Amino acid sequence: MTGMAVVVGAGVGGLATAIGLRRAGWAVSILERRTELERYGTAFGIHPTAQAALDRLGVGEAFRGRAVPYRGARIRTPEGKVMASLPLERIERKAGRPELLISRPYLIDALMAELDAFGDVPLKFGENVSEVDALVAGHDLVVGADGIRSAVRAVRFDERSGPRHVGTVAWIGIADFESGVYGETWGKGRFFGMTPVEPGRTNWYATVPEATTAEELRGYFEDWHDPIPRVLAETDPSTWIRYEMRHLFPALPTFVNGGRVALVGDAAHAMTPNLGQGACTAILDAEALTRAVAEHGPVGLPAALRAYDSERRRSAQRVAFGSRNLHRFMTAERTRLRNSMFRMMPS
Ligand SMILES: Cc1cc2nc3c(=O)[nH]c(=O)nc-3n(C[C@H](O)[C@H](O)[C@H](O)COP(=O)(O)OP(=O)(O)OC[C@H]3O[C@@H](n4cnc5c(N)ncnc54)[C@H](O)[C@@H]3O)c2cc1C
Repeated sequence: MTGMAVVVGAGVGGLATAIGLRRAGWAVSILERRTELERYGTAFGIHPTAQAALDRLGVGEAFRGRAVPYRGARIRTPEGKVMASLPLERIERKAGRPELLISRPYLIDALMAELDAFGDVPLKFGENVSEVDALVAGHDLVVGADGIRSAVRAVRFDERSGPRHVGTVAWIGIADFESGVYGETWGKGRFFGMTPVEPGRTNWYATVPEATTAEELRGYFEDWHDPIPRVLAETDPSTWIRYEMRHLFPALPTFVNGGRVALVGDAAHAMTPNLGQGACTAILDAEALTRAVAEHGPVGLPAALRAYDSERRRSAQRVAFGSRNLHRFMTAERTRLRNSMFRMMPS
C-alpha cells in the first residue's frame, strides 16, 4: 500500500472516492455517522461524463445493469401544453450514449459491491466524525465526503460557507406504475417532474413554496395535467421524502487544505437539484481526485490535491450556480414572461 487515507461519509461521493483510492494502491477506511447504509432515495440522473467516470472506477457495468435511459422528456405548462424539450437527445447525440437514470439504492449497491470485492476496505458505521484534526494527524489523506453539513469543511475550510435555504420545499417519491409521460411541468412558483426509474415505476419530484403534509402537496397539483394527480394519489405518502431546498453559499475558495485534506461532492459544492447533477458531480470529483492521487503518488500529494482543485472546483461551482439560477427560473411567479422565452428556444 502506498499511503493511508480515510474517507468521511459513505454516500455516493465517499464510496466512489474509496474505490478510486484503493485502486490507486492506498489503504483506505470509511467512517459513516449512520448506523447502516440507508437504502432509500429516488432516481439520480447520470450524465455520460459521469458514466465514463464510473467506467474508469470499474463500476460502469454494475451501474448499467440497473440503469434505464432517459429520453423524450418535455417541459409542459400545468394545462399540459408542451413548451420545450429537455436537451436529452442533444446530449445523447453529442456523447454517443444516453443520459441514464438509476435508483439511489441501486447505485449505492453497485459501489458497495466493488468495495466488498477488495475485501480490505473497512466501512465503520456509527462514527460521527467531529475530531477532524486528529484524523488529519493520523492519516496521509483525509477526504470529506460528508455531505452538505460537512464536519470536515466546518473545521478545515472557510467557515463562512454553509448550507443556505433557497426558500422552497422539495418532495420526492416513486409511484408504482409507469406514467409514460416524462419531463417537467412548470407552474407559478412550483414545478413537478416525472422520470423513468425501472420497469413498472415512475420517479417524481415536486417543489413548492411550502407544504408540510402529503395532503397539502396533493392540493398544490390537484388541477394539473394528467397523470400528475394520479402519480401523487398512487404513491404511498409514508414513502415520500421531504426536504428544505438548500445549497452551499458562498462558494468555497478551494476544495483542498494543507496538502492532506480534500472535499468531494455535497461537502464541496452542495447544489439545488434542478440540473440533476448532485450525484454526477460527486462521481466526477471522486474520479478526478483519485486519478490525481494515483498519478502523483503519496509524496506528490500536495500537487495531486492542487491538480484536483484546478480540474474540479470551477467546473462544479459553475454547475451549482447554473442549478441555483434554474431553480429561480422554474419557480418564477411571473410565468407569462418565462413561458414566452420558450418560444424563442429551439425545441
Ligand atoms: C440517505 C440519503 C438519501 C438521498 N436521497 C436522495 C434522492 O432521493 N434524490 C436526490 O436527488 N438526492 C438524494 N440524496 C442526496 C444525494 O445523494 C447527494 O446530493 C449526492 O449524491 C452527493 O453525494 P455525497 O456523497 O456528496 O453526499 P451525501 O449523499 O449527503 O452523503 C454524505 C454521507 O456522509 C455522512 N456524514 C455526514 N456527516 C458525517 C460525519 N460528521 N461523520 C461521518 N459521516 C458523516 C452522511 O450520513 C452521508 O451518508 C440523498 C442522500 C442521502 C444521504
